[in-house]
Amino acid sequence: RQSAERSAAQNLCRTADGKRIEVFANLGSLGEATHAVAQGAEGCGLLRTEFLFLEREQAPDEREQLRRYQEIADALAGRPLIIRTLDIGGDKPIPYLPLPAEENPALGLRGIRTSLWQPDLLRVQLRALLQVQPAGQCRVLLPMITDVAEVRIVRKLIDEIRRELGITTTLQVGAMIETPASAAIADQIAREVDFFSIGTNDLTQYTLAMDRGHADLAARIDALHPAVLRLIAMTAEAGARHNRLVAMCGGLASDPAAVPVLLGLGLTELSVVPSMIPQLKHLIGHLTLDACRPLAQRALAQESAEAVRSLLAETSNELK
Ligand code: PEP
Ligand code: MG
Repeated sequence: RQSAERSAAQNLCRTADGKRIEVFANLGSLGEATHAVAQGAEGCGLLRTEFLFLEREQAPDEREQLRRYQEIADALAGRPLIIRTLDIGGDKPIPYLPLPAEENPALGLRGIRTSLWQPDLLRVQLRALLQVQPAGQCRVLLPMITDVAEVRIVRKLIDEIRRELGITTTLQVGAMIETPASAAIADQIAREVDFFSIGTNDLTQYTLAMDRGHADLAARIDALHPAVLRLIAMTAEAGARHNRLVAMCGGLASDPAAVPVLLGLGLTELSVVPSMIPQLKHLIGHLTLDACRPLAQRALAQESAEAVRSLLAETSNELK
């Protein structure tokens, strides 16, 4: 009862049957952090750090990065801040990181691959985020993971930096599950990380083999496609088996129609577009896991995204 009272006082989100669901915000600047808190964000589930690196001649140094991350941590006033390491690729030119020309940038050096190809940038970024105060508020999220080895290399680097800086607190490390590869080996990745965050924008692009920015395919790129849903389900099951928190920061988490399915699959943190937070918290407060679980199973059995959407439209009244 005490915890229920505390959640009510802090406006923390729970389902109608009492399951705690964290509603976090996706952020890309300090201004967005302030706005998100006003909207009721319980934390930041994805800080896209690209904003610090683009459109400049030199990479931001450790001091500048620390200052910018600290400002956002302060704006969040103690709420968790999940910082994603630089997720950049050949489609976004940066002068101090001359990437080779690629015919297929979406399949080339991107996310963690770019970072491991130029580890100096990653090292500076990790040093900065490890120094954000108070220790423990910040977690780190690694984009475009496809191999267990990538996580191990970064963890080793983090341990090295912690020793250099004399930091004794641990840093929670998460993997983005945004490739079919990482969903397929989610059970292996789970052993190496503290949490998962599912990125449905890329997961949908790579699963359906459809460019996420392709205008003519836009209507068909739907993360509720059963192929994508099944990968989400695999990830959630692997997370549950290994007792790891499973979050979603891709666009699907901001889609009210999808939320009952996501809760039914076992996700416990949704990181969303800040303006959607009030509506989603209200919706979650009216759902029960008892109703969401069988609905999620029915969604997985549908034969198309349209069929999933029809199912969700038909059942939306029964859920509340
Ligand atoms: C995603 O791919 O779903 C994601 C959250 O990352 P981004 O949109 O920044 O690629
Ligand atoms: Mg992505």
